[in-house]
Parts: sequence; C-alpha cells; structure tokens
Amino acid sequence: MSSPTPEFLSRLVSIVGAEGHSTDPEVLAPHLVEWRGRWRGNTPILLLPKTTDEVSRIVAACHDAGVGIVPQGGNTGLQGGQIPGAHGNEVLLTLSRMNRVRSVDPIDNSMVVEAGMTLLAVQQAAAEHDRLFPLSLGAEGTCQIGGNLATNAGGIHVVRYGNARSLVLGLEVVLPDGRVWDGLRALRKDNTGIDLKNLFVGSEGTLGIITAAVLKLFPRHRQVSTVFAAVPSIEAAVALLGHTQHRVEDAVLAFELLPHSALELVTRHIPGTVNPLGEVSPFYVLFDLTAPRALAESVIESALENGIVTDATIADSPSKGQALWRIRESLPDAQKNEGASIKHDVSVAVSRIPAYVAEAEKQIRALIPDCRPVTFGHLGDGNLHLCVSRPVAMRDADFLAMRDPVNHIVHDLAHEAGGSISAEHGIGIGKREEIRRYKSAVELELNTRIKQALDPRGIMNPGKGVG
Ligand code: FAD
Ligand code: ZN
Repeated sequence: MSSPTPEFLSRLVSIVGAEGHSTDPEVLAPHLVEWRGRWRGNTPILLLPKTTDEVSRIVAACHDAGVGIVPQGGNTGLQGGQIPGAHGNEVLLTLSRMNRVRSVDPIDNSMVVEAGMTLLAVQQAAAEHDRLFPLSLGAEGTCQIGGNLATNAGGIHVVRYGNARSLVLGLEVVLPDGRVWDGLRALRKDNTGIDLKNLFVGSEGTLGIITAAVLKLFPRHRQVSTVFAAVPSIEAAVALLGHTQHRVEDAVLAFELLPHSALELVTRHIPGTVNPLGEVSPFYVLFDLTAPRALAESVIESALENGIVTDATIADSPSKGQALWRIRESLPDAQKNEGASIKHDVSVAVSRIPAYVAEAEKQIRALIPDCRPVTFGHLGDGNLHLCVSRPVAMRDADFLAMRDPVNHIVHDLAHEAGGSISAEHGIGIGKREEIRRYKSAVELELNTRIKQALDPRGIMNPGKGVG
C-alpha cells in the first residue's frame, strides 16, 4: 500500500470540495476510535462525499495511487472494521452526507435509500408511508444503513424478519476500481446468474462501498404485546419459545433471554429501572408478539400450567412495553460500570443452547474463578452474547490478559456444536486471526479468491474481514 502524497490528497479535495472533507484533528478524533476504545487509528483525511459520482472518483483515485480506503458508517461496529490502521496511510470515507430517500414504492413495498441514512431515519421514512422497515438494534440512532448491510446486522427482529441480508432487494456499489455497479433492482425474483448483492452484504467494506440500497418494506404492526416472563432455566426458556411459536405461529417478533445477573446489573446502574416481577428468577425472557393481549395471556397461562414460566407480566400500554425493553437495551451500558468484560457474539442451534451455555460458563469459571458471566441475547435465533465481567477484585488489565483463552473456550465449544463465532458483529480486525481457527482451508481460500478478484490491488479496507 502507498502512502498518500500531498498531491494525491489535493486531488481528493478537488473531487469533494471544501465541504466534503476534513483534516481538522478535532473533527477526525471521534472517527478514529471504536466506541469501546478497543481500536484506534489515524488518517490524513476524512472524506464526506455527497454523491455516488464523488465516491466513484475518490475510489478511482485511490486505485490509481494504490492508497488504502476505509469506509465508515456510524462507527458503531464492534469489531473495529471501520477504524483505519494506526500507521495513518489510509483515507477514511463516510457517507453521512449521502442521507436521502431516493424513492418509495408503497405498492411494491420497497424503498431506495442512500447508504448514509441512519437506521432510525430509514425506519421513520418507512413509517411516514405507513410501512415498516423491521431492522432494529440498540445503535439504530447512530448506525447507518450502509454499515448495517456491510455487517449484515441482526438485532432483535431476526426471529421474524431475518437479518439485514433478507431485507435488501438491490444495491448500488462503488467497486474497488471506481466503477459503479448499479444493482438497484426491486425484484423479489431474479435468477439471472450469481446474486451479486449477497457478495457485498456482510463483506465489511472489503469488496466495495455500498452507496444506496433497495430495501423491503412490510405492513406496520397494529398491535404488539410485550411480555416479561420468569423462567426457571434456559431449558425452560427454549421450551417457552417452542410453546409460543406453536400457539401464535409467526407472531413472535422478538425473543430475548436475560439471566438474573443481567437484571441485577441494569437495576443497579440504570436509574428508573426495576425488576418488573415480584420474584427473583434465575432467568427471564422478554418477548414481543404481534398479537392481541388475550392471545399473549393464553400463551402465558398455559406456560404457567406447564411450569415453563413461573411468573410473567404483559405490558398494557406502549410506554410500559418500552420500559420493559429499556431493561434489555441498557444492559451493555450497565455492564460497562462493572469494569472490563470480554464479550462474545456466538450462535448455535436453539436446541443446543442450554448445554452450550452450561459448558461454556463452567469452563470459564474454572479458568477465572469469581468471574461473572452474563449470557443474554437473541434466543429466538440462537444468537447469544456471552459477556464475562471481571472478578470484582481483579484488575482490568489482568482480566483482559485472559482474553485469548476465554475466547478459545467460547468459540471452540460453539464450533464443536456446529455454531458460529460471529453471529452478528462480523470479523473486522478483532476476529481476523480467530476466524482462521474455525474456517476450513476451502472456505478461507474462497474468501481470499473473491477478495482478489474484486480488489486485486487490495485497497479496499485493508487488513479487515476474512479474505
Ligand atoms: P460502522 O461501524 O461504521 O462500520 C462497520 C463495518 O461496515 C466496517 O467494516 C465498515 O468499513 C463497513 N461499512 C460501513 N459503511 C459501509 C458502506 N457504506 N459500504 C461498505 N462498507 C461499509 N449489531 C447487530 O448486528 N445487532 C445488534 O443487536 C447490535 N446492537 C448493538 C448495540 C450497540 C449499543 C452498539 C454500539 C452496537 C450494536 N451492534 C449490533 C453493532 C453495530 O451497530 C452494527 O454492526 C452496525 O450494523 C454497524 O453499522 P455502522 O453504520 O455503525 O457501521
Ligand atoms: Zn445482538
């Protein structure tokens, strides 16, 4: 990779103009660190193009000069894929000024948006047309739809709608040589060769820059019942999922597991949060049904009779539902108050979750006595965040020095159970080495070949992802 020369940087400035770039250290600073402070980088320039044509000319210039380019969305990614290298030789590009809705088709239930729109703005634009864009995650006010697609984001509604990949019909992408691939087709069916958009979804900015997307829209939910239920075990939580799906078919919109340790952290650190139930239970399940309250009540009544639920409350207003969700959503912030933690983002088949979690926590506790595992997350699609807080009396640095052995326990067991070491957050920088322990030689080679075919000069987000 070449270092950017002053002449090269002037060429970039001439493409985007005064408004479209910054070299001011104060403006750059928040773009150069990942939100938990795990990765820090440097860059000579932040580019803020306003059009696909500008992105195309920037990338063509980088291609000609052999200079690396890092696409950044809302900088909420959790594996550092959006942070440039510490050497400062890569230019950083964000699409925050490309934030328009290009068109909405309420009959086709589709919408064309620019990639720099925040996820929240996309949801709001859909709602303005009485439609739903169902992707939903804690960072939605900040993350961008381009970043969501580049990471194939998941979130809380995957159990019903699938992840970002299943919500996109077409893409516009600036390729690593600067050409524009216009794949903005809104077709539900198109079998004309390899589905190219799926190469770019989840590729973490290593194959091109997503500049616009055609998104699927859905009918809005007229009625949502939010339930917070105490369950005696993870086995019971899994049984409750099956019980509920059997009763309500596809009305399960979200289905999240929380251990008591999570509820305790939240009520200790987040003002205004309380245990919604009278009792303390080893685990809780928070779930949304797009069904009338009476149906939610009958699901809970039969689950109480079966003993898979020991207590439950059903929110009787949207504000009460939001208060229940606040417990789940504020968990990452609450956990920050407890010192260093080592976090994971694994998935295994739902049926294997109870045995998987029991064994992983057992082995971690044997390795670091008194550590505090908090295993929570998207039980409905087999994706759990196994986050271990340090023992109260241990120094952060001593605990973090154990990251590799802890990772190996969590990831080896997930792999042995046929699972994934990264269900949502991708590979970025953080899992680039770790993934090599688990992907077969054939899979690694295919990733590398695809990367080389699309980006032979290796300029697109160097050193990130699998390939
Ligand atoms: P960034 O962090 O800026 O970038 C992420 C990656 O995408 C980088 O590799 C970057 O190079 C690439 N990229 C960004 N934009 C583009 C583009 N236009 N074209 C090509 N490549 C691009 N994730 C989940 O999946 N589910 C969750 O439930 C979830 N909850 C979260 C909660 C919190 C509080 C936080 C902080 C994060 C959470 N995340 C979650 C992680 C994060 O929000 C997602 O990974 C999100 O999709 C990243 O979007 P972003 O715009 O911030 O991308
Ligand atoms: Zn998640």
